[in-house]
Amino acid sequence: MKWLSFFRTIQAKVIIIYVLLILIAMQLIGVYFVSAMKNSLTSNFTTDLQERAELMSVLAAKTLAGGEPDENPEESLQVMVSNLFNMDGAEIQVLDATGKVLTTSLLSHADYVGNKNTQTVVSRALQGIVDNEEYIIDDDGTRKKVVAKPVIHNGKIVGAIYIVASMSELYGTMQRINSIFISGILLALGLTAVLGVILSHTITHPIKELTRHARAVAEGRFTEKTPVFGSDEIGQLSQTFNYMTSRLREALSQNEEEKEKLASILTNMSDGVIATDEAGRIILMNRRAGQMLGVEGEELAGREIGPLLGLSEIEAESLARGVSDSKLLEFTPGESGQPFMMRVTFTPIHRREIGITGTIAVLQDVTEQEKLEASRREFVANVSHELRTPLTTIKSYTEALEDGALEDKQMGPRFVGVIQNETGRMIRLVTDLLHLSRMDSKESALRKQRVDIVEMLEDVEDRFSFQMQQKNVHTIIDAKPGVSTAMLDRDGIDQVLDNLISNALKYTPDGGTITMEADITEDGMLSLSVEDTGIGIPKKDLDRIFERFYRVDKARTRNMGGTGLGLSIAREIVRVHGGSISLQSELEKGTKVTFTLPLNDEGGATE
Ligand code: ADP
Repeated sequence: MKWLSFFRTIQAKVIIIYVLLILIAMQLIGVYFVSAMKNSLTSNFTTDLQERAELMSVLAAKTLAGGEPDENPEESLQVMVSNLFNMDGAEIQVLDATGKVLTTSLLSHADYVGNKNTQTVVSRALQGIVDNEEYIIDDDGTRKKVVAKPVIHNGKIVGAIYIVASMSELYGTMQRINSIFISGILLALGLTAVLGVILSHTITHPIKELTRHARAVAEGRFTEKTPVFGSDEIGQLSQTFNYMTSRLREALSQNEEEKEKLASILTNMSDGVIATDEAGRIILMNRRAGQMLGVEGEELAGREIGPLLGLSEIEAESLARGVSDSKLLEFTPGESGQPFMMRVTFTPIHRREIGITGTIAVLQDVTEQEKLEASRREFVANVSHELRTPLTTIKSYTEALEDGALEDKQMGPRFVGVIQNETGRMIRLVTDLLHLSRMDSKESALRKQRVDIVEMLEDVEDRFSFQMQQKNVHTIIDAKPGVSTAMLDRDGIDQVLDNLISNALKYTPDGGTITMEADITEDGMLSLSVEDTGIGIPKKDLDRIFERFYRVDKARTRNMGGTGLGLSIAREIVRVHGGSISLQSELEKGTKVTFTLPLNDEGGATE
């Protein structure tokens, strides 16, 4: 079927049209030319025969009319016929008034002499009709022209001239002309076909190139360029196509860039993003959403978002329609995942004229936020509670003083003492809170200086010596070899040690021992510890002991004047130094708090 498809090409069509045009033109010209030629030749031939017959009739008139008495009419006619009328393939007969053949130019027809020529043309001529001609086809198929003319002498018909001439030479000439014409046509057609091939090639070649290039563009190969052949319409089309390709490439690469940007934004977002269609079925989700929900993104394509997030149908519907925009959920990913707090925010996608076509759901892990919020609430409640207790006490004692206790010599000073105590506790609490808040807001910069460790520990011991003596608590300072100086914020570390020693003192019964130990750890840090032989801390409380306001036994420790902030302040100070703090304790045996600090400058801020 290859040939069939060839006929469908422009090239074939151009060639066929050209050849047909030439064929039709040549045919028309040929028909007109050949018929004109034939008419002209035939009329010339006939005129020639007529003229000869005319001449002969004039010449023979006298002889036929009787002529000179001395002449033999047959002979003189024979001389005339053979001398004047010598024509190939033609016969001239001179007939008398009866139609009898007197002489003939054709020797082979000599036997006709004396016989009557009965042809119609002859009888018409003998009747005086001048133009008599006839076209006959011989028994052997030869086309012949017959002409007969009357011979008139003195107004009397004395005979007739009969000429019959073969037209085969004329037709031969016509045949030759025809064959020249046909070969001319064939040559012209051949040349036209060749020209058509060349011409159509100049048109179809760029079109083929353009088609190939268009296919390449469709397949995404934008680098190929269509060759531009000349500056004609097809050349301009090729140029425009190249321009279109480059514009398309630019537009696509821009599009691709945008898509990549969007994809990388989506992938690297810390929030989960899920896009759904108007029926709430998932069409796209980012990696983070998959991580949060504990599934692979592909698994979820086509699933409904409502049941996936554990939302009721009504909730999912109202979120998707934008009636309510966000919801806080406690979500457990998969079967065994850790539950976490998730805020889901829905944004309906509106399209002009169509309305809501889908929803974008943003999933945020708000566990930390919620925890912070809860601890902030707890902190505020704690602070209020801590302040309310001394304030209530102060209020009731001042009321009692007002009601007369002031006059009482015994009660008065005792009540004032309680008020002073509570005020002192409040001041400590507020001071501790201020301290913590300064550290939280990183306002307090460290003022590091080279500090002699043993001297620092001895100073602490001195500060508490009175209280220790009162409680009969024994102190040991144990500085391991290698411990000498360190770069510390002396005030900060003093505070840590004060807090720890005051705790140790508070929770160690009379006669106990407090050991302060200084050592260098394997990784080159200074390790300081305060160990007591006190009441210890139950195991269940160890995890939370560093939390703000955390107390093991609230009522008792409050009575001891603690604010519940001592250990958390100590932890903050150690942390800004770049160290760590830990606590080991056994009930009724004692507690050991150990903290490490960098020996030199690294970690923390220096002034
Ligand atoms: P406070 O100012 O109330 O002492 P801390 O933060 O210093 O607050 O301590 C928190 C809680 O830890 C205390 O209420 C106490 O119950 C317990 N604690 C701290 N140090 C010791 C210790 N050396 N022995 C026993 N319990 C302790």
